[in-house]
Amino acid sequence: MSKRLIFLGPPGAGKGTQAQKLAEQAQIPHISTGQILRDAIAAATALGKKAQAYMDSGDLVPDALLLDLVRERLQQDDAQDGWILDGFPRTVAQAEFLTDLLDDLQQNSAIAITLEVPEEVLVERLLARKRQDDTESTIRRRLEVYRQQTAPVIDFYRTHNLHAVDGDRPPEEVFQTLKALVSAP
Ligand code: AMP
Repeated sequence: MSKRLIFLGPPGAGKGTQAQKLAEQAQIPHISTGQILRDAIAAATALGKKAQAYMDSGDLVPDALLLDLVRERLQQDDAQDGWILDGFPRTVAQAEFLTDLLDDLQQNSAIAITLEVPEEVLVERLLARKRQDDTESTIRRRLEVYRQQTAPVIDFYRTHNLHAVDGDRPPEEVFQTLKALVSAP
């Protein structure tokens, strides 16, 4: 059973919801870079101030704001027996960084999971959830950024350890599939 899970897939695929539930069940931290950034904005920290404009427009925040943060998070005590990464990596450069980092930290056997959902369903879901960075123009931009920068990350993991899961099903069904996947020997 792998307890190091990299959740991939477009915005609106259900990564956050599923990652949170699975992390609770497996008692490992759910590490969402988007949530860390939203918390930083809410707390008006230096990180939040630098990240806000990128997030408001649906663009990726620069690696300089994120890479050290991910490195530090994965070194914390609660992350030693496993974790679910949600929203990172989002570029091939970040995926390469993560591969090297996990090597350095001797955190082996991570598996990548991608949730597959058709684009028209994604737009509907994103419009329905009404988060601050979910306006129609931001959503369009985030999907474009996904296609251009994040979809290639799936190809990066295809040659390693990638599991594709149909995310266009009721959340409970998706959860059962994910649970079975992570508890497989
Ligand atoms: P999420 O909650 O994962 O959908 O992320 C929300 C926003 O946070 C994204 O639209 C990006 O602006 C920013 N973000 C989150 N994770 C990353 C990342 N790995 N690289 C760059 N930007 C990110």
